[in-house]
Amino acid sequence: MAMCHACRRTLLAGERYRVWRWGRRDRTVCAVCEPDVREAGAVRVVEAFESVRVGGGMTQTVKRVA
Ligand SMILES: [Zn+2]
Repeated sequence: MAMCHACRRTLLAGERYRVWRWGRRDRTVCAVCEPDVREAGAVRVVEAFESVRVGGGMTQTVKRVA
């Protein structure tokens, strides 16, 4: 499962995120946290948003409760 490294939240299926680099590492950051990490000095690695894919199976039902 993808997780936002800024707010430590597990990203929901289909949620948009981008990869940012700071501290010499690439980190997944949700769209909500992007302004924060940019202020913290992070550099965006990719221009396009990616969406969280539901892992593995083709039609897996997401039953996770946060
Ligand atoms: Zn976040």
